[in-house]
Amino acid sequence: MALSGLDIYKLLPKTNCRECGFVTCLAFAMALAKKSVSIDKCPYLSQDAKRVLEASSLPPIKLITIGEGENKLEVGNETVMFRHEEKFHHPCGLGFIIEDNLGDSQIKQKLEKINQLKFERVGQILNVNLIAIHQNKDAKRFTEVVKLVLNNSSLGLVLMSDDLEAQTQALEISKIKKPLLYHATQENAAEFSKLAKDFNVPLVVSASDLEGLSALTKELNNQGVGDLVLDTGKKSIADKIWDFTQIRRQALKKSNRSLGFPILAVVQEDEPYEEVMQAATYITKYANIILIQGIETWQVLSLLTLRQNIYTDPQKPLQIEPKIYPVGQVTDKSPVLATTNFSLTYYTVLGEVEASKIPSYIVSVDTEGMSVLTAWAAEKFTPEKIADALNKFGVKEKVAHTRLIIPGYVAVMSGDLEEKSGWQVVVGPKEASGIPSFLKNL
Ligand code: SF4
Repeated sequence: MALSGLDIYKLLPKTNCRECGFVTCLAFAMALAKKSVSIDKCPYLSQDAKRVLEASSLPPIKLITIGEGENKLEVGNETVMFRHEEKFHHPCGLGFIIEDNLGDSQIKQKLEKINQLKFERVGQILNVNLIAIHQNKDAKRFTEVVKLVLNNSSLGLVLMSDDLEAQTQALEISKIKKPLLYHATQENAAEFSKLAKDFNVPLVVSASDLEGLSALTKELNNQGVGDLVLDTGKKSIADKIWDFTQIRRQALKKSNRSLGFPILAVVQEDEPYEEVMQAATYITKYANIILIQGIETWQVLSLLTLRQNIYTDPQKPLQIEPKIYPVGQVTDKSPVLATTNFSLTYYTVLGEVEASKIPSYIVSVDTEGMSVLTAWAAEKFTPEKIADALNKFGVKEKVAHTRLIIPGYVAVMSGDLEEKSGWQVVVGPKEASGIPSFLKNL
């Protein structure tokens, strides 16, 4: 956990010798707390102080990378319990379990469907991340399925097997993709740690309680395996949430390095709604990787949407570039609508304009990502700003009229806007859903 300037000061020699370039040890401590200077600048630090300071500068939850290239998944490195305290940094990875006792054609069909699970929402692409191959048969079949997956998917891999021979063969053919190895337990820790080290891949550590998990991660760290992912096995949803919350609290609040790793949740329920409900719960608290069975669009889209919302920086609303957007085959007679650059607002307006089938221009005004009423109240969506946007984006050069449609909620600014912009202002509907009929009757 990061130390305060005063905590750091207590560890310094307090001689104010100035060799670090600061006039006092306290000034140096304050600069260290802000991470604007390195601890090497003080040549008089004791070994103990160095160790504590170095440990405090490490992220409390280790960043783990699975896969390579553009589909690599990075999880961990989280610094807060609640997103409003700062933000969550690395969206949890979503993966799908493929059983190796399915036939090749069934597996290929599944992979084809998984490859299509890509969605655009409020201007961002939502992707799935992993394929987890689960062994039910022998080592040969497990390796065949790993090969099949490698040939038909570019997503990251999770290898789920307790069979050392199967894992070794699978790692031989997939090591370049840096798969996640599942899993080291109390019984097989030595063998799995050797595999993880030999192939340089991250390793899942499984134990049913936090004490067991903590002991195992320490043992694996001592054996030189540092890239770990934590798993507390199959439990009720309430028990899992308890585990996950305690793991994160231990890592962030108690600086417990033995639990400072990302968390894995394996969700396998026969009832698809139950599976989605559990996975959604774990997205909110505090799973970093979730493996599920269901690959239906309704299941995946709902989870990816939730993930997008949870992992959006609460201090920086999703926003689009402020500019003029043509929708459809616009002409110089096309209507012009003004709105804000908050993604959700823009895409809602866009959807309704598209639904109207009337080619139009949308002028997205820079409101720092605020929605219409919020921006208006915060004086970010004002007659001056809208008039500026019309000039800046050269709207007059694109249309042969000067009629501007504004959202019904800000009708109050229409007179002032007409004065400031020289455009005739038409008050549109309050809700975006009214746009199609409004445009048709314009
Ligand atoms: S070099 Fe070390 S002991 Fe000297 S002032 Fe800087 S922090 Fe203090």
